[in-house]
Amino acid sequence: MNNSFGLSGDAKAALLARLANRRPATTVEPVPEPKPPLGKPEVASEIAMVRRAGEALGIRNPFFRAHEGIAGATSVIDGRTYDNFVSYNYLGLNGDPRVADAAKEAIDRYGTSVSASRIVSGERPIHRELELALAAVYQADDAIALVSGHATNVTVIGHLVGRDDLILHNSLSHNSIVQGALMSGARRISFPHNDMDELDRLLGASRGLVSRALIVVEGHYSMDGDVPDLARLVEIAKRHRAHLMVDEAHSLGVIGARGHGIAEHAGVDPREIDVWMGTLSKTLSGCGGYIAGSAALIDYLKHSAPGFVYSVGLPPPVAAAALKSLEIMYAEPERVARLQANGRTFLEACRACGLDTGSSIGGAIVPVMTGSSIVAARAADALFRAGLNVQPIIYPAVPENGARLRFFLSSLHEPAQLQDVARHIAAILTTLTGETIDLGALTGKLSGAL
Ligand code: PMP
Repeated sequence: MNNSFGLSGDAKAALLARLANRRPATTVEPVPEPKPPLGKPEVASEIAMVRRAGEALGIRNPFFRAHEGIAGATSVIDGRTYDNFVSYNYLGLNGDPRVADAAKEAIDRYGTSVSASRIVSGERPIHRELELALAAVYQADDAIALVSGHATNVTVIGHLVGRDDLILHNSLSHNSIVQGALMSGARRISFPHNDMDELDRLLGASRGLVSRALIVVEGHYSMDGDVPDLARLVEIAKRHRAHLMVDEAHSLGVIGARGHGIAEHAGVDPREIDVWMGTLSKTLSGCGGYIAGSAALIDYLKHSAPGFVYSVGLPPPVAAAALKSLEIMYAEPERVARLQANGRTFLEACRACGLDTGSSIGGAIVPVMTGSSIVAARAADALFRAGLNVQPIIYPAVPENGARLRFFLSSLHEPAQLQDVARHIAAILTTLTGETIDLGALTGKLSGAL
């Protein structure tokens, strides 16, 4: 019987050889879909859009510029000296040899780090010296210092109230306040900037529905350079049995006759405020945040605030630099006076040149409104080319019609320098607002980024 299916001997051999060479049947592996990129797509597209807009307008990237030395009234960037208006070195203490020496001595004595949380690993005397000096500014029982100003607001606000409570914060509140409020789980209401009547009304409508109410404001607003009505806030808070927290990041060393902040500026007893918050990064030329208040409040935070208990203590050189800066602020009130005079000089010079400075009180922050993000970005770029470093604040950081150039002043600026700068800005803005931009072409270039 032919059991070779009719194949000849040769064909059979060839078939067997082919079968022997055949690769084992492979299963087709599904190609894994690429992982979606991390981050929020809408944020990524906003970043891309701003970048494309800059390129389309021929503007150099104004972010992450490298300063080659200490940023004061002037600063060296890429080998060129600029008039500088982007730093919070309000009293010119960053780089002061006494502050630098204090930091160096602390390094020699304690090293550069305390390596762990103070609660378990122990603190250094410099921590408590700094905290008690900070408490004294507000006539408070005590204070606590943490490693970041931003983290201070997040962890403290997030830890003081909870789901049964209400947080009312100013609509222009710093991101750290909003993040803290979100973390707390409390109901959150943002009231219109400095609108005390509306705050009063909102509290009246909601106070009965919640266990506790915490009002959070800033002592000196970093976008507009204006201040809240602190006396009215204290009155409203009392009437509604609400707590009041004030962020003094831009007030310490800046407003009030001795630089003690908004309470001194407003003539209000600082003990009327439940929670004082501030940062070490600006006037105090360090890095970190603090809370000052009652002994019970500070004790609670020291033993339970996650950003303190589970985070490293302040590096000794940073604590020493902040403490020395605070001592100099007390000892040399002329620095505060000079900063305040500079703020007034610059505000008046800008106004005299017909510039719109919004609601700035002429403290350390003076915005120059430009009416549009494009004009703000182009003006900042033109000023940079002319040797002046100022940041444009553009949409979405502010509403489009609130776009601006934002000037931070320091006690180190010279009055004549400020007069010149005001004239310079006015000249550049006049030129730019006279120029037309082909918005159609620009939109075309931008659409690729969306
Ligand atoms: N609060 C306000 C009002 C701020 O402006 C800032 C930062 N500029 C912070 C808190 C956070 O402070 P730091 O940068 O020191 O972390």
